[in-house]
Amino acid sequence: MIDLRSDTVTKPTAGMRAAMAAAEVGDDQYGDDPTVNHLQVRVAALLGKEVAIFVPSGTMANQIALKMLTQPGDDVLVGDEAHIVWHEAGASAANAGVQFTVIGQGGRFTAADVRAKAKARGHVVQPGTTLVCVESTHNRGGGFVFDPDEAIKIGAVARELGLGTYLDGARLFNAAVASGRSLAALAAPFDVVGVALSKGLGCPIGSLVAGPAVLMPRGIAARRRYGGAMRQSGILAAAGLYALDHHVDRLADDHANARAIAAAVAQTPALITMADVQTNIVIFHLPAGLPDAATIVARAHAAGVHVQAFGPRTVRATTHLDVSAAECAEAGRVLAAAISS
Ligand SMILES: *Cc1c(COP(=O)(O)O)cnc(C)c1O
Repeated sequence: MIDLRSDTVTKPTAGMRAAMAAAEVGDDQYGDDPTVNHLQVRVAALLGKEVAIFVPSGTMANQIALKMLTQPGDDVLVGDEAHIVWHEAGASAANAGVQFTVIGQGGRFTAADVRAKAKARGHVVQPGTTLVCVESTHNRGGGFVFDPDEAIKIGAVARELGLGTYLDGARLFNAAVASGRSLAALAAPFDVVGVALSKGLGCPIGSLVAGPAVLMPRGIAARRRYGGAMRQSGILAAAGLYALDHHVDRLADDHANARAIAAAVAQTPALITMADVQTNIVIFHLPAGLPDAATIVARAHAAGVHVQAFGPRTVRATTHLDVSAAECAEAGRVLAAAISS
C-alpha cells in the first residue's frame, strides 16, 4: 500500500530509533532532561525566538499559544480553512474560550484585512481582538506557503494595533525549504510560533512552541494544565534532533513527488491549482459529473494507493519520507485512472 493519507504516517527510521535508544534523559518537569533542553535551545535558535518548549502535539502547540496570547472572550483573526478552526475538536472554544473571525480567502489574507476586521478592545459590546493567526504551510489550502512579504506587513499592522501574532507552522520546515527563506525569517513577523516534528520531519511524536521568554511561564502552565508536561521525554526529543540533522533538506524530494502526483491529476477533469502545490500536499476537487471523493478513495485503495477524502468532493494526498519517487509516480497514475474511469 502506498500510504499518502498524511505525512504523519511515517515510522521512525533505524537511525532515528538508534538515536532515541541512546538518548540521555532526566525528568523534564525538573528541567533535568538534557536532550529536551538541547532540542528546545536548538529550535528556539532556528526560529530566532528566545525560548521554545517541547509539547506532545501540534494541536497542543496551537492551544498553548492561544493561552499565551489571549484571554477568554477575546476575538482572534484567522484565515479561512485553518487547522485551529477545523481540526482541533473545538479546543480553542473549550480551552482558551476565544471566538474566531475568519478573514480573507482560502487561508490567505492581507494586512488590510486585519485592519478592517480587528475589533476595538474595551468596547462595551464588541469582543476585543487580541490575536492574528497565520498558518504556513496551509494544510487545507493544499500546502501553499503563506506569502512571507504579506506576513511582514501583517506583523507590522498587528503591532500598530496592539495585537499578538501566532504562526501555526506545523509544516514551517516545508515552507522554508520551498521558499528558500530561513525558518527565522519566516517566523520573524510573529510573537509565537508552533512547529511540528511529527509531520514531514518523520518523528513519532512532538511539536515545539517558541516565543518570548516573558510569555513562556504562561505556556509552561498551559502545557501542564492540558496534561502535556512529560518526564523522560528526551527519548522523543532525540528523534527531533536526529530529524533536524537528517530530514530537513530531503523535504525537497517530497515536494517534487507531490508535484509529480499533481501533474498527473491535472491531466484529468479534476480541479487542481498547480500554483498552490508548493510543498508536500496535493488537494484536488471533483466537480459534478466526476465520481465523488469517497469513490476516488475506494478506487485508489483497491489499486494500492491510500489517500484521504477531505470533503465530499475533495481529496488530499500527502508525500513524505516513507514514499519514493517511483511510488508517487505510480500513485499519480492510479489517481488519474480513478478519476477518469
Ligand atoms: C497537523 C497540523 C496541526 C496539528 O498537529 P497534531 O500533531 O496532529 O496535533 C496543527 N496545524 C497544522 C497546520 C497541521 O497541519
